[in-house]
Amino acid sequence: MSIELENKFQAIISHAKEYGFVFPSSEIYDGLSAVYDYGPYGSELKKNIRDYWWKSMTQLHENIVGIDAAIFMHPTTWKASGHVDNFSDPMIDNKDSKKRYRVDHLLEAKADALKESGKEKEAYELLATMDKLLAADDFTGLRQLMLDNKIVCSISGTANWTDIRQFNLMFSTQLGSVAEDADTIYLRPETAQGIFVNFLNVQKTARMKVPFGIAQTGKAFRNEIVARQFIFRMREFEQMEMQFFVRPGTEGEWYKYWKETRLQWHLGLGIPAAKYRYHDHVKLAHYAKEACDIEYEFPFGFKEVEGIHSRSDFDLTQHQQYSKKKQQYFDTDIDEATGKPYGNYIPYVIETSIGLDRMFLLVLSQAYEEEKLVKEDGSEDSRTVLHIPAKIAPNKLAILPLTKKDGLPEIARGLMDECKSSFKCFYEEKDAIGKRYRRQDAIGTPFCVTIDHQTKDDNTVTIRYRDSMQQERIPISKVKELVLKEIF
Ligand code: ATP
Repeated sequence: MSIELENKFQAIISHAKEYGFVFPSSEIYDGLSAVYDYGPYGSELKKNIRDYWWKSMTQLHENIVGIDAAIFMHPTTWKASGHVDNFSDPMIDNKDSKKRYRVDHLLEAKADALKESGKEKEAYELLATMDKLLAADDFTGLRQLMLDNKIVCSISGTANWTDIRQFNLMFSTQLGSVAEDADTIYLRPETAQGIFVNFLNVQKTARMKVPFGIAQTGKAFRNEIVARQFIFRMREFEQMEMQFFVRPGTEGEWYKYWKETRLQWHLGLGIPAAKYRYHDHVKLAHYAKEACDIEYEFPFGFKEVEGIHSRSDFDLTQHQQYSKKKQQYFDTDIDEATGKPYGNYIPYVIETSIGLDRMFLLVLSQAYEEEKLVKEDGSEDSRTVLHIPAKIAPNKLAILPLTKKDGLPEIARGLMDECKSSFKCFYEEKDAIGKRYRRQDAIGTPFCVTIDHQTKDDNTVTIRYRDSMQQERIPISKVKELVLKEIF
């Protein structure tokens, strides 16, 4: 990461804390690594992103319904899903500093450094070799690749590495009060399995016909060894996942559909297409047919924000085998080839999986700007502004009476009462108006309305637009309509 981008990233983290978006968890005890709390504006923004996703899934698609499954699940779930045996990352320890690293992270960081020094080809070759060795689980080869590339520990500065080992990422705990009887259960590492085990419950009760989807948002937990980059990689985070069940043989076209549809969702927030790219996976899980990531250009480079995976019938078949309960669907549609119904089968699945916290960081990274301004008298000024898309901004409208007297607060309160049941408004009387505008810029409020003495004469107010800083006078009766138009 260049110094300029590193500074920008640090500025975003400070801004998020100073303005009540994100706090380190239990900060008074010095925080807990890779765990964060969302503050007043952060929790609103997070909820708005979640709602935007939920609506796009369950309201705009007639054939997708939601569920809200528990975090704890029967332990056999994780045996069936493969997480007990396979949910691990190759790790390596530095013998001098005793620090543990994820091998792919060390190699990726080296590739980034090569790119920054203009050695694009070497960087590409390094990543391609890494992908190949990871796909083959060739740990000796990976360790040699690290040594060949002179990768050292950032703390000890040495290449005194242990062998590479697998490290399971699931958190476990005990269910039951008496230690001897207690069962080991896991905090779910993904929300998807809550969907798979409820496949037939949902299909039958909501009378769904294949193709159909089940959406869910909720917490997931991973004991990430190297948790860094703020809320990009957390130990407790939230996912927004949708599993789409399709007839075998149609998964290719549905994979394509969801790959495109999900990118459109991102672009629908007005984020430029150039900030995104697809990364098609080279290393596929043994059951996967196709998989790709949607990557966004964070200040620290292009990184995954969402995954689209064609998972075959792997998950339902595994659950059928472990639970001994049939997970089949009876398809009454007629197969033109045979003239008979398609009949019983285990559906194939296309999964879309996005991290809510990662999306939050994406929105902040995209929105944050330290803008240089020239005032009317020619002098220089600056402001920090969050250009958060209006439909997900924490506050939509700030209502600001110019003074605390002369009946202006009463008019402002009237507008507040008119608007607050439709969208989130913020009321403030204190401080000079310029200062109040800057505070709203810093938390990303798209519209500010000022009520002044002229309002008493002609029922007009000044509306100020966050991004352009333009101001215009409009009738107070038009304010609600104007904001509503921009936020839906
Ligand atoms: P990565 O390669 O970055 O570890 P992954 O491929 O393991 O991610 P998935 O298992 O596909 O991730 O999870 C789907 C989504 O959940 C990711 O695209 C990401 O947005 C989010 N996610 C995964 N792990 C974390 C984490 N530790 N903190 C925050 N978000 C996460």
